[in-house]
Amino acid sequence: MLIVLFGGFITWALYVCAFSLVLVREGQNFTTFDLLLIVCLLGFSYHSFKYWFIPIWNLPEHRVIKAPMTFISFTEEHADIEMYRDRDRHQLTRVTRFKGICPICSSNVILRDGKTDQRVPLVGRCVESPFAHVYSFDRILMTGKIFK
Ligand SMILES: [Zn+2]
Repeated sequence: MLIVLFGGFITWALYVCAFSLVLVREGQNFTTFDLLLIVCLLGFSYHSFKYWFIPIWNLPEHRVIKAPMTFISFTEEHADIEMYRDRDRHQLTRVTRFKGICPICSSNVILRDGKTDQRVPLVGRCVESPFAHVYSFDRILMTGKIFK
């Protein structure tokens, strides 16, 4: 997993280097097209940093994160990435999906971002009532309690 993380980072660094080389070679002819490219690059960097690098960086600490969109196919709505240890203490990472039934309205409960109304990073939110039926999530016991 670290290889993926740093591979992505190195690819990004190479891309920035190649890009600036092209700009330097063109010299004085700085056009609005170049400016557009720079803005695109900055936007892309920010986006991948926020939605890809930061979540994966948090994975060893949080143990469960929402999978970034690049990890899942378009037909899937959502997925979770879980890091766990098996019986032989091997560190494993898998893409999975946690789902439960809401005891209040019996629709599905899925893991979603806990911000901004809860303090924990991930909470179980009811599909039908995502801000009223909010649950904590215990990954080991596979249970949760409703937040008051
Ligand atoms: Zn509900």
